[in-house]
Amino acid sequence: MKYMPRNGGEHPHRQGLGLTSPAARARLIAELRAEGIEDERVLAALAKVPRHEFVEEAWRGEAYKNRPLPIGQAQTISQPYIVALMTQWLLQRGPRKRVLEIGTGSGYQTAVLAELVPNVFTVERLKGLSEQARARLRQLGYRNIHFGYADGSQGWAAHAPYDGILVTAAAESVPKALLDQLERGGRLVIPVGPPHHQMLRVIDRNGRYESRDLAPVSFVPLLEGRA
Ligand code: SAH
Repeated sequence: MKYMPRNGGEHPHRQGLGLTSPAARARLIAELRAEGIEDERVLAALAKVPRHEFVEEAWRGEAYKNRPLPIGQAQTISQPYIVALMTQWLLQRGPRKRVLEIGTGSGYQTAVLAELVPNVFTVERLKGLSEQARARLRQLGYRNIHFGYADGSQGWAAHAPYDGILVTAAAESVPKALLDQLERGGRLVIPVGPPHHQMLRVIDRNGRYESRDLAPVSFVPLLEGRA
């Protein structure tokens, strides 16, 4: 049935009803569980973070569907399942204290991390997105996130090492700086490969680096330089 405007045509999300309601979020969490996400901390974080605050106004009604959405500047916010999966793998070796995220984008994945990790460092190469995410996350009350406007393929040496690194754009090959800035006992989660042939790779740094390819994915490319 078509949504019938009330209260002078206010959108349903403004009233806490309809497509961004608690019920819509609960349905999404049930779907993620059914698809195999089993880390309760991750599911709780996804239930808490208001995804509709991170997408363009026109797409808010779609925010709790398990699909990627546009966030402006030709970039997309990953589908919730992929956010949950990457976060679950990042935390699988045990709780993390300092996590570096490459590709802030809308800041949605950043917020999920900030629910679960004491110190989050996030780097974005597009100035507009970086500034928007910073303002949005501050307004939502996050105080444990450090924002960098830079080419994240160089990592963020000033705050290294990290016990977790999560990359949300696909690299043709794993940047050496990220391997160097990963602490012993740390884990790197990164999509690797050319467009349409990417795999989600998990790299553990122990005495040496141990790497596994775990799932086919589709991400925007990791680009060089700032813009
Ligand atoms: N995690 C984001 C997804 C963003 S899409 C979210 O939850 O919304 C990938 C992002 O990576 C884009 O914003 C893109 O600009 C950024 N990106 C691509 N190459 C980069 C690089 N070398 N350094 C930092 N950010 C990069």
